[in-house]
Amino acid sequence: MIRVTVWNEYLHEREEGSPVADVYPEGIHKAIANGIVSDDFQVRTATLDQLEHGLTEEVLNETDVLLWWGHRGHEQVSDLIVNRVHERVLHGMGLIVLHSGHFSKIFKKLMGTSCDLRWREVGEKERVWVVDPAHPIAEGIGSYFELPNEEMYGEHFDIPAPDDLVFVSWFEGGEVFRSGCTYHRGQGKVFYFRPGHETYPTYYNETVLQVIKNAIRWATPKHGSLPIYGFNGPLEEIHTKKP
Ligand code: ZN
Repeated sequence: MIRVTVWNEYLHEREEGSPVADVYPEGIHKAIANGIVSDDFQVRTATLDQLEHGLTEEVLNETDVLLWWGHRGHEQVSDLIVNRVHERVLHGMGLIVLHSGHFSKIFKKLMGTSCDLRWREVGEKERVWVVDPAHPIAEGIGSYFELPNEEMYGEHFDIPAPDDLVFVSWFEGGEVFRSGCTYHRGQGKVFYFRPGHETYPTYYNETVLQVIKNAIRWATPKHGSLPIYGFNGPLEEIHTKKP
């Protein structure tokens, strides 16, 4: 079983009179958790307001892949927890950063750049093109898929060059954006996936959910023993020595 934790700041959805509550009455994390149900996944959720943001040592140690949705509350996430998540990624936990999570402390720490971009929110059409059809994250997605209403994110997106660029988005207003980017950090695998503005029902879209499921399977740690660092005794007898 792949142990998945869906983390959401869960702020917009609980604001009085917010349209986000109509789209995600139980929160974005619940919509995603319900949407990715699979025989090989064991899914739990965590939110900002919980003790240690729901990301205790125990929870993280029992997480193979962590999903991250944040927007308004990035600065409310404690550095202690960011460092803990960072450490877990370096030791092999997969991390999938969604939409406005591009500005989260954890994503910026892992990227080392500003992660800034252009944006516009008018609910225009987004067409997401598959640019790496052989990539496991693109499995079953076809050549492209469309979201009728989304927020626009445009280049330049200030990220390091991704290991693999899986998706590129085109927006009705004319911009393009690197929408699906993979990275390796330490032993961990990281995937950034753009769609998912809080006022649109993007996380009910079957194709979006399929991409997230593919990304979870891709990001799951599969390696064996952890690497060893520091002093190393010789495996063979050494005959060459300093005179
Ligand atoms: Zn947004």
